[in-house]
Amino acid sequence: MTIRKIITVLSAAALLFTAGCSFSDYKNNKDTESIPSCTKELFAMDTYMTVTAYGENSEKAVSEALTEIQRLDSLLSTGKKDSEISILNKTGKANLSEDSRYLMDKADYIFSSTGGAFDITVYPLMTLWGFQGGEPSLPEDKQIKEVLTLIGQDRIKYNDSEIILGNGQGIDFGGIAKGYTGDRIMKIFEKNDIVSGIISLGGNVQCYGKKTDGSLWRCGITDPDNPEDKSSLIGTVEVSDKSVVTSGGYERFFKDENSGVTYHHIMDPSTGYSADNGLLSVTIVSSDGTLADGLSTACFVMGEDKAIEFWRQHSSEFDMILINDKREITVTQGISQNFTSDRIWNVES
Ligand code: ADP
Ligand code: MG
Repeated sequence: MTIRKIITVLSAAALLFTAGCSFSDYKNNKDTESIPSCTKELFAMDTYMTVTAYGENSEKAVSEALTEIQRLDSLLSTGKKDSEISILNKTGKANLSEDSRYLMDKADYIFSSTGGAFDITVYPLMTLWGFQGGEPSLPEDKQIKEVLTLIGQDRIKYNDSEIILGNGQGIDFGGIAKGYTGDRIMKIFEKNDIVSGIISLGGNVQCYGKKTDGSLWRCGITDPDNPEDKSSLIGTVEVSDKSVVTSGGYERFFKDENSGVTYHHIMDPSTGYSADNGLLSVTIVSSDGTLADGLSTACFVMGEDKAIEFWRQHSSEFDMILINDKREITVTQGISQNFTSDRIWNVES
């Protein structure tokens, strides 16, 4: 099993934003000379995270952000056996926290608007494939077909306070939790009068305002062929007050020894196998971090044509950068002016 999750696509952005807002940079700027800043790192939700804030309360804001990350990790992680979600998956019943309820509704919106491409009920499928801890391996087709009968968020019963699962069903917020955590941190920044901030939660980068010198944050898009080489980016996108989230099949995968086929951790709920439709990565840019995270997974599952069709209907909610297996890059119109690359790219309008 190869896990390339630690510093992934948008963690490359972390390098860029670090380089772009070094201490000397903003010290040279008279207006922002006296702005205190704070950066802290931690490992949570199975990945490395960095939180940076500028402002009088930066230290307090960053420390509150770290506490919030840990709180949400303990609540939402399927890897922690005492989390709300793990208890739900074990017992089939749970009282919903406000956070889980919000995520259920958001996931439901993404599930229904993407025709089920995003589906938090993939949990038993993730378990069958061995992506929930342990060594992943190719299950028998018969087993996959059996588990598929359990999948579908429309088959889950929940109301404002309670959720009830059928036998064998389970919830996995892994495709949306980091995005939600980012949104919560943005609220913490706001409450603490932060003037500028940026966070990198594994593959998710979220920026608060602009850089202290007034310019946009620059986020790097990893080359899916060289995910670990931060000097080999596909391009960069410049944004403010946005979440930039990438899903790619190169993040967690294994090769089946018998067939030589590679499988990864993003499931196509319509087949029960990992999504395989010619896309190497999808980056979503949106002011809603939870939506961006869910849609990066969903659009990756949908494939290029359907993802573009979906964007046309929802272009006020997000923009995206698609990279397919022919190494063609497609950028949607809303961010085409903010995207830079050495390579040729298409603009979708
Ligand atoms: P990552 O979390 O690796 O950055 P994603 O945001 O795309 O990447 O989320 C992938 C995770 O989402 C998987 O590890 C799994 O927990 C969950 N997942 C996999 N397939 C789906 C799907 N079709 N819909 C919703 N969640 C999914
Ligand atoms: Mg996602």
